[in-house]
Amino acid sequence: MTAAAAPPLRVAPGVHRISVPLPFPPREVAAWVIEGDDGHVLVDTGIDTPPARGALRDAAGELGVTPGSLRHVVLTHAHIDHYGLAGPVRAWSGARVCIHAREEELALGWVHGWPTDRAAVADHFRACGIPAPLADALLAASDRIHQRYEYCPPDEVLCGERGPLPGAAGWEWILTPGHSPGHVTVYHAGTRILIVGDHVLPRISPNIGADLYAENPLADYLGSLGRLRELPVELVLPSHGEPFRDLAGRIDWIVAHHEARTAQTLDALDRPRTAFEVTLRLFPDLPPDNFLHALREARAHLMYLRGLGAVERDVRDGVNGLEAWVRVG
Ligand SMILES: [Zn+2]
Ligand SMILES: [Zn+2]
Repeated sequence: MTAAAAPPLRVAPGVHRISVPLPFPPREVAAWVIEGDDGHVLVDTGIDTPPARGALRDAAGELGVTPGSLRHVVLTHAHIDHYGLAGPVRAWSGARVCIHAREEELALGWVHGWPTDRAAVADHFRACGIPAPLADALLAASDRIHQRYEYCPPDEVLCGERGPLPGAAGWEWILTPGHSPGHVTVYHAGTRILIVGDHVLPRISPNIGADLYAENPLADYLGSLGRLRELPVELVLPSHGEPFRDLAGRIDWIVAHHEARTAQTLDALDRPRTAFEVTLRLFPDLPPDNFLHALREARAHLMYLRGLGAVERDVRDGVNGLEAWVRVG
């Protein structure tokens, strides 16, 4: 038996938080209803499971959101926990689904590129020095996510760095890459409210999207954190965890965390090491379920150090024929 979903929470005038359950940690994602000019805007949707559909349906009933009133669905990014119900919500309401162009490219790659990308990812895992049984398990987990991913062709792609939010005067979207390459946050300057997606979270440091799609995702992430820190913000609405107020303080904590992790990553290179070795040195007590996140974090820091000119990736000699990361100087 599952507990009844909490009723939607009014977090500010015309802004409501819907708690949507997830079948995996962190167990919950927030979707946001904004009362727009001539109807409602939904920011993020949740994953497509019966309890998540139920939570959205109940919240729509409570808030008076009807198929006729829901005009736009804006997705902060294409991760399945935010994106999964976009198609069903559009089928129910006819709302226009909007996502950033870079994120649409990523989603298309997942849907159409996976057979080819799977081979590239398998090569990449080998080159990183990941033992074959673990690499096979990681690929099988990726297969399950890909099978579950329901692509939703958008009605509108958001292009550039910043623009007006469709359907809600006074609101705008701001590109904040790092967690994902086309992640957007949603901002209202008049009330200083920021729907921050997965870009800044109150309790954990967001995962950096160090996969095959980005050159230096940690640099992207720190750059967009720095730009966001300049915004006047009084209420931060994250996708996971409770709303909070001190955006600058939280950003400073995350930046300090990454500075410390960058130093640890450099220390881990006491000799040439594979990305797998570096991951184990940074996270010695890692449960296998979290390995991929940890590998991404380690690689994001290695790529960042390479961008600073502090390390190089040696693909020719490496370690036992595998690509290795080496300190410069
Ligand atoms: Zn995400
Ligand atoms: Zn998320």
